[in-house]
Amino acid sequence: MTPTWVQVAYLVAAVCFILALRGLSSPRTARQGNLIGAAGALLATVVVFFQTDLEHIPLILAAIALGSLGGVLGAQRVQMTQMPQLVALFNGVGGGAAALVALLELHEIAGSDVEAFDLAATAFTVVVGSVSFSGSLVTFAKLQELMTTRPVTFPGLPVLFGAALLASVALSVLVVLEPSSWLGIGLAVLGLLVGVLLVLPVGGADVPIVISLLNAFTGLTVAAGGYVLGNTLLLVAGTLVGASGTLLTLLMAKAMGRSVANTLFGALKGGSTLGAGTASDRPVRSAGPEDVAILLGYAERVLIVPGYGLAVAQAQHSLRELVDVLGERGIAVDYAIHPVAGRMPGHMNVLLAEAQVPYEQLKEMDDVNGEFKQTDVVLIVGANDVVNPAAKTTPGAPIYGMPILNADEARQIVFMKRSMRPGFAGIDNELLFDPKTTLLFGDAKETMSKLLNAVKAL
Ligand code: NDP
Repeated sequence: MTPTWVQVAYLVAAVCFILALRGLSSPRTARQGNLIGAAGALLATVVVFFQTDLEHIPLILAAIALGSLGGVLGAQRVQMTQMPQLVALFNGVGGGAAALVALLELHEIAGSDVEAFDLAATAFTVVVGSVSFSGSLVTFAKLQELMTTRPVTFPGLPVLFGAALLASVALSVLVVLEPSSWLGIGLAVLGLLVGVLLVLPVGGADVPIVISLLNAFTGLTVAAGGYVLGNTLLLVAGTLVGASGTLLTLLMAKAMGRSVANTLFGALKGGSTLGAGTASDRPVRSAGPEDVAILLGYAERVLIVPGYGLAVAQAQHSLRELVDVLGERGIAVDYAIHPVAGRMPGHMNVLLAEAQVPYEQLKEMDDVNGEFKQTDVVLIVGANDVVNPAAKTTPGAPIYGMPILNADEARQIVFMKRSMRPGFAGIDNELLFDPKTTLLFGDAKETMSKLLNAVKAL
């Protein structure tokens, strides 16, 4: 029986988690929300040590020290553009930990008189936690570009996936009927296989949706683990993560213009082979910073489309300066923000806010898309997929159906990028070959300061 004061402490921690979610829903209160959530997690961890039946305290402390060290070092070193990978990794270890706890629990309860529902919850935790662990590791490898970001499929993948799924269900039933550690281990192995097969066919551009889905899986696993262990706080925290992860998955799938099922299994229909992902050798028009400065300096209306390359190059400060200088010349300049530009939702808003860009200059996609027709120059800085017309014109392309910024409708288009390499989805972009398009090659930070100097010199 959990003592009342522990239950009260868990209740306080659960309230902290709910307040944290509320705080995280607005950029202004997000930091505060994060701290409240961390305080709740700390309280929940500390309370465990005051329970009398705790064993192996030195081992637990060593594990906490090791985990904290890894977490702090990882979080300090990671660049903002690598944040989704970090989230995928944290999510994976969460699912993996829940699966391990359930495996140990199964070892303890095997042979004793346990209710079927408890055993079913344990089997669920093992299998879904393992799916979350291996799936998250594959998303990490894709985002870190340790493997191809393109969908990976092979003949027989759907059959193997279906068979692994069915076998997991069958083994789960066996766990309920005749619980044993070996069955649990078999279930974990099947879960790991399902996780890998689930994520392999997902194309790079859809990876964030899958991270969010796996996050929801981890939440459900933790909730089921909480049920198995009789721990209300885990149940509450897991349910919160499961529900918010599910909502985020649906919202992101909607923003990408496709269903979750299409995101996961679309490539299995064979549409993924479009676009070789190699640099094209078709002729393009390129120019130097001085030529682009003239284009910009004599425009009346300019829209900036920021993307992943801007974030990698850390060119946001010189970009803001450029926009300020253009503004002083009486040119109307705004930023057109795509919801999945960069490598995480809202990435560009955070990046530009950090460079002190006034909030009014940030135009969301739906509000700005009608304005490209009246735009003299669209300056696309390190963005690619979010303006790729293949999303509208090429059924079967990995990004087909994703709403894009209508940069193709502007009178002049300028791309700032280093080469003819494609964006994250790995497909060619016809807009680079459009007669209205000029390419300003180079690292965005370097070319941006050259462009800034050239505009100042006009
Ligand atoms: P893309 O990845 O499509 O394109 C980025 C472009 O930046 C590339 O063409 C690259 O070309 C260029 N680039 C890279 N480094 C530099 C640099 N140092 N200087 C100048 N240019 C550079 O980015 P977008 O923002 O257009 O699209 C985001 C993509 O990421 C979408 O497919 C989206 O679905 C996906 N995604 C989004 C997430 C989100 O939630 N926001 C999360 C994960 C993925 P080159 O190499 O020639 O320089």
